[in-house]
This record gives sequence, structure tokens and C-alpha cells, in this order.
Amino acid sequence: TLGEVAQETGCHAYAVGGFVRDLLLHIKNLDLDVVIEGDALAYAKKLGKKLGGKVRTHEKFGTAVVKLPDGFKIDIATARLEYYEYPAAMPTVELSSIKLDLYRRDFTINAMAIHLNPDTFGTLVDFFNCQNDLKDRQIRILHNLSFVEDPTRIFRAIRFEQRMGFKIGRHTEKLIKNAVKMELFDRFFGHRFFNELISILSEENPIPAIHRMADLGLLRFLHPTLRIEPKLATILEETRQALAWHRLLYLDEPCRQWLVYLLALMSSLPVREVVVFCERFEVPLRHRQFLGREKLAVTRIAAIMKRAMPETPSGMYHLLKDLSPEGLLHLMGLLKKKGCKKAISLYVTDWRQLKPETDGNDLAEMGYRTGPLYGTILRCLLDARLDGLVHDRASETAFIK
Ligand code: ATP
Repeated sequence: TLGEVAQETGCHAYAVGGFVRDLLLHIKNLDLDVVIEGDALAYAKKLGKKLGGKVRTHEKFGTAVVKLPDGFKIDIATARLEYYEYPAAMPTVELSSIKLDLYRRDFTINAMAIHLNPDTFGTLVDFFNCQNDLKDRQIRILHNLSFVEDPTRIFRAIRFEQRMGFKIGRHTEKLIKNAVKMELFDRFFGHRFFNELISILSEENPIPAIHRMADLGLLRFLHPTLRIEPKLATILEETRQALAWHRLLYLDEPCRQWLVYLLALMSSLPVREVVVFCERFEVPLRHRQFLGREKLAVTRIAAIMKRAMPETPSGMYHLLKDLSPEGLLHLMGLLKKKGCKKAISLYVTDWRQLKPETDGNDLAEMGYRTGPLYGTILRCLLDARLDGLVHDRASETAFIK
């Protein structure tokens, strides 16, 4: 259908980028990027109608997204001459628009296309010998000014390298080191970097990528004093284990892994430095507030637990009850003592689900009048339950009496 609509609209359509890379590697990828030589918006509207999908267009960028009822997402863009306004980085040769579009991409492995028009359907478009790099498992840039043009690509290189077990090519690695030396990052910060950092920290296991960033001297761009010392390495590993444990519980609560790793990375920095980081990388306000709040709360709780663990489950419960899932896992990553980890895991799996069986109606029946006392009694009952002093409605009633 994608190709037929292209033919009907009088344009050329290509699948591009990560979808083609993953297809050639036999890896599942549910996001399809399509580049159109021609009018991408007209194409998207027609495609949406034909497939019964929802179309959202961004006229300004000449892009559109078609969402199909089954959740499949197609990003559609116009083949464009430039991603960024750095004409100096471009050689002055005449190229077809798909060729230029591919040339502007980050790495050779992401710079292949598959023609979708019916008469050439399935033809691989590979202008830059990209298939070889895919075969050799190499991450290579397409031109020498690639990192000058867009330094966020350095983070992307590391992410792809570690995710796929590829290797950043020798020349590409040299250019990364040059970019680091030139302190290119001091000029380029902001939300695009932050988004790439989120992507790295969202990978299944981001720790090798963090070490690679450290080896390439990149951590200091996140913060000048950030180093992977043994203490931080241990915290990261403990964090990974805590996240793996949490995943296995299949709880119905969202937990943003990247935030847990970010908190771990920043664990040795004072909170005011986290604020500086957030400003530098234009972190959205909701994340800023979340990071600051959880960092302060977890630091306080970790200090208390290191000194002396609460003796009762209810004491532990009240210490932990205001933390988010991310905060709880961060705390688990920070604490070494087995007893501390055990208490947090019990809180997550059991304690926080507990409720007294007695409710307001029961209290009314017992002759209590509605009022603040209700809440106090129910809180006391919960504590008693946590500490094993009551275990069913009858013992709760006896406890109240
Ligand atoms: P993932 O599997 O992580 O989604 P992806 O390759 O699909 O990987 P996206 O970030 O979705 O990554 O980007 C889609 C495509 O857009 C890439 O394959 C690449 O060709 C291009 N691209 C993305 N970011 C850049 C960039 N900074 N510079 C050049 N090209 C880019």
C-alpha cells in the first residue's frame, strides 16, 4: 500500500533509517520511517485514509505521522537537503534528494533506504557502501564534519555500538576524540543532548555505554566532576540489579528506568549541581522537580538507614511511603547492606499493599462518630497490621476496643 499510494501521488517513497538497518539484521522494529521525494503531506493524508489510520501533520517541517489502529506507527518526512543549517559542511555536488537525505544521516548503518514504489519495490538503495559496515559491525560517520555539525551523534554512536555489539570505526573514534578535545560540547547542550542521554539510559543495560562514555572523556560534559570511580561503578551495578528485580515482579506500575540511572549517576553530586545540570540540558520542569525531590528524599532516607534501620515494619513503611518507584529503586541501588535491601523489597512486594480490614462503616457501627479520629484509628490499625499485632477483622476490632 505504501508504494501504491506513492505511485498514485506521483512521488517516490522509501523506507529509511533504523527500520532498514534492523530489517537487514533481522531485528524487529515497529517504527517505520518513510522519506518521500515529493509532497510528503499529501502522501501522508492519502495513506492515512487508505489504511484507516490517524494522521498528524507538521506543515512547518514537512513531516507527518500516521498511526494505524494496531499501534504501528509510520513517520513520514520530505526528503530534504538539510537537517541542520550548516551549509559549509556540505560538498557542492548535485545529489538526488534521497541521496542527500541519506548523506545527512548520522551513520552509514542508518543511511540505507528501501524503495517502496511498485515497479522497484524492495530495491535496496545504498549509495555509500553501508551494507559493508553493517556486515563488519562498524559504526561510521558519513563525512568528517558529522560531529561538528551535530555532536549529539557521539552519544548515538555509543548507544548503537553498545546495543548491537558493534564497534565504532577507527576514524570515527578519532573524530569523537577530536570533538571532545575541541570541547565542542560546551557550545552544544540543551534538550537534544538530554534526549540522547535518555535514550542511552533507556537501553536494556546502559552500563557498558556509560563506561564507554567515561573512556571517551564524555562524562565531564554531563558534569565536570563526574568520574566512574569504584563507588559509582558499584552503585550502577546495584541499580541494574534492582531494576532487573523490579522488572521480574511484573507490577502494573510504570517505572522510568532512565530516571533511576540518572539519579544513580548524580548520586555523588550535591543537589545544587543537579539543578545546574538540569539548566544546562534544558530538562523539562516536571523532570527537574522530580529529580530534585527524589534525590533529597533518598539521600535523607539512605543516611537514616545507614545509621540505624527502623526496628519495626511500620517504621520502615513510614520512611519509604512517599518515595516514587524510581526513588525506591534508586535507594536500593545506593544501599549495600542486605537487611536494607530486604526491607525495601518487602515494602514494594507486601507492605505497601496492606490495608486494615476495618473501614469507616465498621467504626460507625462501633459507635464512633465521623471525624478526624477515623483517620487516626485506621492509621494505627495499619501500623498494627504491618507489625503483626493484628491479622484479621476480629483482631482489629479487639485492638480498637
Ligand atoms: P532506534 O532503534 O533507537 O529508534 P533509530 O535509528 O530508529 O534507532 P531514531 O532516533 O528514531 O533512531 O532516528 C531515526 C533515523 O533518523 C536514524 O536511523 C537516523 O538515520 C536519523 N537520525 C536521527 N538522529 C539523527 C542525527 N542526530 N543526525 C543524523 N541523522 C539522525
